[in-house]
Amino acid sequence: MEIWPHILRLLEKSGESAYPSECCGFVLGRRETSGTVRGLSVVAVDNAQAPDKRRCRFLMEAEDFLRAEQAAAAQGLELTAVFHSHPDHPAEPSEEDLAHALPFYHYLITAVAQGQAQETTCWRLASDRSGFVREPLTIVDKAPGNGEKSPAARPPRSAPAGHGKPEAS
Ligand SMILES: [Zn+2]
Repeated sequence: MEIWPHILRLLEKSGESAYPSECCGFVLGRRETSGTVRGLSVVAVDNAQAPDKRRCRFLMEAEDFLRAEQAAAAQGLELTAVFHSHPDHPAEPSEEDLAHALPFYHYLITAVAQGQAQETTCWRLASDRSGFVREPLTIVDKAPGNGEKSPAARPPRSAPAGHGKPEAS
């Protein structure tokens, strides 16, 4: 997956401001015909997990996915990745992350140590769902030459707590 430096910075800031809780949200972007997935826009989502669980879990409602899909469509983009942070844990998917992962999406994890963002890693679910496969996360220095602009990050309203899939770090 390819992202611009400011997209990486948005993910890092999201993790830092949520610390010591987990942040979560979506990266909207495009799938190139070459197969490259480009992340162009960040949609932060309020972690709907109960306060005592937010340190090691995140929860996004079906509604959050729907809103992100709608935001993507409105910008001519696709929902390409799910991101979350691991406060004081390595940027590696947990068993809970695996249990709730969906095929197709990329998963970005930012480690946040003592409130400071560290490494951000990129993963996809293996086709047999046995585990995650790490994918390269390339930070591209500048926009592609066709004048493509990066849409601004626009967090949606927070969703009410309800049923959904919890994920732990
Ligand atoms: Zn996790």
